[in-house]
Amino acid sequence: MENLGNYKLVFLGDQAVGKTSIITCFMYGNFDTNYQATIGVDFLSKTMRYEDRTFRLQLWDTAGQERFQSIVPSYIRDSSVAVIVYDVADKQTFLNTSKWIQEVRAERGSHVIVVLVGNKTDLIHKRQVSIEEGDNKASEFGALFMETSAKAGFNIKPLFCKITSALQGNE
Ligand code: GDP
Ligand code: MG
Repeated sequence: MENLGNYKLVFLGDQAVGKTSIITCFMYGNFDTNYQATIGVDFLSKTMRYEDRTFRLQLWDTAGQERFQSIVPSYIRDSSVAVIVYDVADKQTFLNTSKWIQEVRAERGSHVIVVLVGNKTDLIHKRQVSIEEGDNKASEFGALFMETSAKAGFNIKPLFCKITSALQGNE
């Protein structure tokens, strides 16, 4: 097959913001509250079509190592995309995205596409971060922005379409 590109996507952000759930929803189309972060392999692959091209996305999850920021440099080596996730119902996780983004930029500069993702939009009455705040922060850091709900299956496919589109435009 022509034009098959391999791209490494790493998921970062505080524990329990929904990184594993977003990956699970995208890969398997379900939301499993019992799912534990032990995938058992380094990454999962998914092929995306964009116009006449095929993109193989390698999704790298973290399994609790998020607590150790020292993981970032080795983890994001060779990555094309860093997906930085926060929980819209937990302001602190949003504030903490700054350090994740800065860490990624320090390591990979502009060689990486950064995507800021506000997850758990289904928690309407618990929301602590507005869509504008998320959007502004993404602009400030030169990142793409998307809000999702892994639980509701909201914006999960569009998130990966947006990423694929950005990969295409980056070449
Ligand atoms: P991770 O530590 O970032 O990988 O987070 P997980 O994917 O393990 O999710 C942490 C918790 O948040 C679990 O109890 C999930 O069921 C829950 N969760 C994940 N995504 C959503 C979401 O979109 N909405 C709601 N309400 N809960 C979610
Ligand atoms: Mg996880």
